[in-house]
Amino acid sequence: MASALTEKLSRLVKEIRGQARITESNVQDMLREVRMALLEADVALPVVRDFIARVKEKALGQEVVGSLTPGQALVGIIHKELAATMGAGVADLNLATQPPAVILMAGLQGAGKTTTTAKLAKWLIERRKKKVLTVSGDVYRPAAIEQLKTVTRQAGAEWFPSSPEQQPLAIALAALAYARTHYFDVLIVDTAGRLAIDEAMMREIQALHAALKPVETLFVVDAMQGQDAVNTAKAFAAALPLTGIVLTKLDGDARGGAALSVRAVTGAPIKFAGVSEKIDGLELFDAERHAGRVLGMGDIVALVEQVTAGVDLQQAQKLAAKVKSGGFDLEDFLEQIRQMKKMGGLSSLLDKLPTQLAAKAGEADLSRAEKDIRRKEGIICAMTPEERRRPEIIKASRKRRIAAGAGVPVQEVNRLLKEFEQMQAVMKKMKGGGLMKMMKRLGG
Ligand code: GDP
Repeated sequence: MASALTEKLSRLVKEIRGQARITESNVQDMLREVRMALLEADVALPVVRDFIARVKEKALGQEVVGSLTPGQALVGIIHKELAATMGAGVADLNLATQPPAVILMAGLQGAGKTTTTAKLAKWLIERRKKKVLTVSGDVYRPAAIEQLKTVTRQAGAEWFPSSPEQQPLAIALAALAYARTHYFDVLIVDTAGRLAIDEAMMREIQALHAALKPVETLFVVDAMQGQDAVNTAKAFAAALPLTGIVLTKLDGDARGGAALSVRAVTGAPIKFAGVSEKIDGLELFDAERHAGRVLGMGDIVALVEQVTAGVDLQQAQKLAAKVKSGGFDLEDFLEQIRQMKKMGGLSSLLDKLPTQLAAKAGEADLSRAEKDIRRKEGIICAMTPEERRRPEIIKASRKRRIAAGAGVPVQEVNRLLKEFEQMQAVMKKMKGGGLMKMMKRLGG
């Protein structure tokens, strides 16, 4: 994520880390810089003030000055307070009600409501095994109704028809009745947005809220909106009892400040983050992780999740068992390569890497890496099953045959075998620890 805040803070963090001694006076200097970075990134002033005050109190309260690694300690405090400002931990969706649970989507036009409605439907179907119905109350823009129909289909959910001749309230109530009689678990109601806050729009969504009694009223806001996001959030929070926020377009060139401010001004937790235009580009918002991202530490957790999401659980468990018994072979290596391909290529993982690493891996490098994966697949496919299971039998003449079969020089076969050996060694080390943790995440 190339956000202004991320860049500024990660530069600052590097500076702070390098400081051997941190005194009361340079803590002040650094906090001034942090304050500037936050303001420039459009974090609302009261939020900045509060944030700086909290960091200062902790920094001067012995936690930094005089500690063995003062730089690290200060960065740690900033990280913790960033996360606290955005909410603690992960705020899940509340569906604890008599079904159908109604989710009301609120926000300005273009914020990403319709897209998020479909993303959420998909998320609920896949992650929570729910039966989901969507409906659009946007009777002012027939295109919006059509758009919801299209994306709902992509999500694999059911769409309840509506048309511009109807009243939003009548549409919503009809959808609710249909959801009841057809045993839907969740009904997501997409609403009309305007380009700016508007009395009539607010009254309309208030009426919808009163009639539908949603368990979740989610305010959808574009992270790229900066200060405007804060004002919009305030207006919506004043009109509706918001239960959560969805921050969209976090993948874009967001200045990052919105994430910090909206929670503070609405008091509602950020529940989801929109991270791509695609239907699966929705993640539970994790404040800790986002704080790390803002500080430029990269998003290793998300990376692991994305990697494992594309991996078939059974396959992964089989693999874990194999690794445990020391039987990880080239067949498995091939399987891994195929899983990598399923994940949708390497480029989509780029965002998740720490900024420094991501900068190193340019576009050219990525397409080379993807070609490399295909070549490896070719090489393993040119081996006999016996060779894949017992790579140690692959000597010179076999290597030549495999190389010819895959259409690559013999050196590449050597390189692949070497890489495989290294991977095997890493896998052995991961035996009890890393891999099993990954499995647990998958299972939970
Ligand atoms: P609505 O008017 O609030 O319903 O907004 P839409 O759902 O139509 O979204 C407006 C635009 O933002 C569309 O082009 C979406 O594809 C795009 N969009 C929505 N969410 C995201 C996101 O998380 N990331 C990116 N990159 N684009 C998004």
